[in-house]
Amino acid sequence: MDLLAKLLSDLPAGAVLTGEDMTGYLQDWWGRQRGNAVCVTLPRTPEEVAAIVRACADAGHGIVPQGGRTGLTGAGVPGAHGRPPVIVCLSRLRKIREIDVANSTISVDAGSVLSQVQAAAQAVDRLFPVSFGAEGSCQIGGIISTNAGGTNVLRYGSTRDQVLGLEVVLPDGTIWSGMKGLRKDNTGYDLRQFFIGAEGTLGIVTGALLKLHPLPKAHATAWVCVPDPSYALLFLNRLQASCGERLTAFELMNAAQLSSVVTIQSDMREPAQAPWHLLVELADMQRQKELEDLLLETLQAAAAAFEITDAVVAQNGSQRSDFWALRHGTAHANRNSGHVLSADISVPVSAVPAFLDTASTAVRAAFPAAKVVVVSHMGDGNVHFGVQFSAQDWAVFDDPTGTTLAVRRIVNDCAEALGGSFSAEHGIGRKLVDELALRTNPAGLQSMRSIKSAIDPHNIMNPGCMFGLENSAS
Ligand SMILES: Cc1cc2nc3c(=O)[nH]c(=O)nc-3n(C[C@H](O)[C@H](O)[C@H](O)COP(=O)(O)OP(=O)(O)OC[C@H]3O[C@@H](n4cnc5c(N)ncnc54)[C@H](O)[C@@H]3O)c2cc1C
Repeated sequence: MDLLAKLLSDLPAGAVLTGEDMTGYLQDWWGRQRGNAVCVTLPRTPEEVAAIVRACADAGHGIVPQGGRTGLTGAGVPGAHGRPPVIVCLSRLRKIREIDVANSTISVDAGSVLSQVQAAAQAVDRLFPVSFGAEGSCQIGGIISTNAGGTNVLRYGSTRDQVLGLEVVLPDGTIWSGMKGLRKDNTGYDLRQFFIGAEGTLGIVTGALLKLHPLPKAHATAWVCVPDPSYALLFLNRLQASCGERLTAFELMNAAQLSSVVTIQSDMREPAQAPWHLLVELADMQRQKELEDLLLETLQAAAAAFEITDAVVAQNGSQRSDFWALRHGTAHANRNSGHVLSADISVPVSAVPAFLDTASTAVRAAFPAAKVVVVSHMGDGNVHFGVQFSAQDWAVFDDPTGTTLAVRRIVNDCAEALGGSFSAEHGIGRKLVDELALRTNPAGLQSMRSIKSAIDPHNIMNPGCMFGLENSAS
C-alpha cells in the first residue's frame, strides 16, 4: 500500500486532504513561498499524530509539522524544491487539558491557539504572558517550536521560559511524555529544551504544560515621542530605574513604519508627529491610579531631561487598545506596502541605536530608493529592520533574489559587528538556511547537526528547514 492509501485507511474520514483542498495549507503568511504536499493530515489526538509519523517513517517520507502558518521564515509550509512531504497540521488538537491554579500551570493540546490559552488563564485570574500580533491564529506548538518572543519578553522572558513540560511524537512515531511540570528536575538531559525552537525538525509537539503568572490588575500605557533611538535608550534606562519589573513593554518604531500602518488601516491615526515613537506599558497588581502616577512622574522627569519630546497617556482601555492596534498593525502593513524585506536581528540593548544608525546608512548607500521601516522590541534588543521598495522599484530589479540576499547580508553584517544575532525570535526556517551556515561557529553547527541526526536519523522531520535539503528524506 502506498503512503497516501495507508494514511487514508488509518485515519478517520475527513482527516486527510488532497488536491485543491490543500491550497490554504501550502502557502506561507507572506504569500511568497508556496510548495506542494502528498496530503495534509488533520489528526485529533496524539495517537493519530503518532500513527501518521510511523507511516511516514516506514516509507522514509518527509513530514512538515504545521501550526497556524503565521511563521515568518517559511518553516511551516513545504519548500518549492524536493519531494512533496506529508503536512501534519495540529489545528484539530486544541483542547485545554487542565488548569492547575494551585501550581499556576496550564496543560494544553499543541494545536490550541495562543489567544485561547491567554483567555483560559485569564478566566482563573492568571496570565499567560506570551503576546504578539498573530496571537489569534498561531498555536502553542508553533510558538514553542519557534521559541516566539513578542512584546512582553522584557518582563516575562520568551516562550522557552514558560514551558515546564512537553509531550512530543518522536520521528519513529513513539510518544515521549515529559509533562510533569516540576519547577526543579535535574534528572539527566533536559529533553524538552531540544524541542523548543527546533522548528519541527526533531519531532511533533502534541501537548505542553505551561507556566502561569499572577494577572496584573492595573495597566498604564503611553505613546511617547523621541528625537532618535539614543534618547529612547536613555528613557528606557530611566523607566527601568523608576519602575523596575513593572515595565512590561518598550516598543520602538520609526515614522515611516507608523505611516505605513495608518496608510493601510484607514480607521487608525498617528497619536503624534515625530521621527521616532515608543509604546511603553507598566503593569502591576497595585491600584490603577498609583501606576498611572508613577508613569506620569517618570514621563515628566524624562521631558525635563529632554529625553522625550511628547507623550500621550492612555485614558482608558479603548485608547490603550488603539495604541496596541498601531503596534500590532506593523506586520500587516509591511505585507501590504510595496515589497518589504524584513530582518529580525538582536543586539545588546545598549547597541540598538548604533545598529539602527549603521544599518540605515549602509542600506541607503546601496539602495537609495529604498525606505527603512523599523519596529523594535527595543526593551530586549530585538529589531525588525524592514527595507521597503515600492512595487514599481521592486518590479525593475533583474535579479530579485540577488537583491534580497544583498539586503540581508548588509543588515545582518551590521548586527554581527555589534555582537548580535541574525535571527532573534522568528527562527531559521527555509529563509535563513544560508545565513545559519555562514554565521554559526563550525563547532556549534556541527553539534546542531549531530543532535538532528541522533534524534531524526533518517532526516524525515521538516526536510529543508534549518539545514537545507542535503541528506533529507524529501
Ligand atoms: C502579524 C504577526 C506578528 C508576529 N509577531 C511576532 C512577535 O512579535 N514575536 C515572535 O516571536 N514572532 C512573531 N510572529 C511570528 C511567529 O513566529 C509565529 O507567529 C508563531 O510563533 C508560529 O506559530 P504557528 O502556530 O503559526 O506556527 P507555523 O507558522 O505553522 O510553524 C512555525 C514552525 O513551527 C513548527 N511547528 C508548528 N507546530 C508544531 C508542532 N506542534 N510541533 C512541532 N513543530 C511545529 C513548524 O514546522 C514550523 O517550523 C508574528 C507573525 C505574524 C504573522
